[in-house]
Amino acid sequence: MAEKRDYYEVLGLQKGASEDEIKRAYRKLAKQYHPDLNPDNPEAEAKFKEVNEANDVLSDPEKRARYDQFGHAGVDPSYGGGGGSYGGGFGGFGGFSGGDGIDLGDIFDSIFGGGGAQRSNPNAPRRGSDIAISLDISFMEACKGLSHEVEINRAETCEACHGTGAKAGTSPKTCPECKGTGQVRFQQRSILGVMTSTRPCTRCGGKGKIIDTPCPECNSGRVQRRKKVIVNVPAGIDNGQTLCVRGEGNSGINGGSKGDLNVRITVRKDPIFERKGFDVWCEIPITYTQAVLGDELTVPTIDGNVKYSIPEGTQPGTVFRLKGKGIKKLQRDGRGDQMVRVSIEVPKRLNKKQKDALQSFEKELGPQNYEKRSGFFDKIKQFGEDIKKNFS
Ligand SMILES: [Zn+2]
Ligand SMILES: [Zn+2]
Repeated sequence: MAEKRDYYEVLGLQKGASEDEIKRAYRKLAKQYHPDLNPDNPEAEAKFKEVNEANDVLSDPEKRARYDQFGHAGVDPSYGGGGGSYGGGFGGFGGFSGGDGIDLGDIFDSIFGGGGAQRSNPNAPRRGSDIAISLDISFMEACKGLSHEVEINRAETCEACHGTGAKAGTSPKTCPECKGTGQVRFQQRSILGVMTSTRPCTRCGGKGKIIDTPCPECNSGRVQRRKKVIVNVPAGIDNGQTLCVRGEGNSGINGGSKGDLNVRITVRKDPIFERKGFDVWCEIPITYTQAVLGDELTVPTIDGNVKYSIPEGTQPGTVFRLKGKGIKKLQRDGRGDQMVRVSIEVPKRLNKKQKDALQSFEKELGPQNYEKRSGFFDKIKQFGEDIKKNFS
């Protein structure tokens, strides 16, 4: 076998080239050496094949990784004699040998400005698509976690035909028109000369196979079913987060794997608690007297009510922290804290007796009882004197 050139060298690239650089280099060179633009030029034809072969490997992350590690032997079992040991694992490179495997779609895409259909094997396994749903839960459910059963419609592999789409006892035939590729080649005149292009096979509708007796139970091997799925919502989930339930989406095609079920979580607002990160905040209105004298408060937490003593002279807006009473941290140990903000409710609609009592109480108080207020009045007195001295 002739010595093969390095694929990166073929495309004029460095080894670490990005996907985009590979794509651009391939398009440029494939156009340059395209047989339709270089009629009767064996050298261009050889270059064209070489460029396509290099692109086939370098544009496929899996093949590229093998090529980077093992060189040509990693991607071509017939290469270099010793390649036999690789032969088993690396099927599917038939496209290298002749012109048939060359993907013209990309070139037409660039010459005609888009619209070129992506050509791929219609019988290759394809993963099922994902299903997205949303789930409304309460604040407490988000804190504690829950198992919730949801009902979804999804495509399942037909039991009757095991996904082949052909009636039980029969099987699909390879389309003789396109030989299973789903594409047929045709010639087209254009300003650049006669060009060979491909279009979906009309005989099989691009599927590559023909089913004489379709399975009466399904549509192309899949059936729509209503299914119950248990969604395990972990404690600590937050509003707007999405849970992925692996393998509970639509069934794959041609034996491909199942898609996922993505559950977007909406957490309803709670009348008492508010979440900030993994901390829980709540506000407790207390009376003026409780603030003055101190008291034992009943504080709601997500674990239930607890007692908490506030000291004498508690000021409005004071925040108490209950360590470890917050929300369970997702995928980590530990919990956030609960923060309790105290607000003082000023009584309204007092009667004469109440007002008199308050007045006589107030008379008993002096500056020593009002730390902030005394300091404040000292400051504004100084301020008044400064204004007078400097600005009048
Ligand atoms: Zn079926
Ligand atoms: Zn066909």
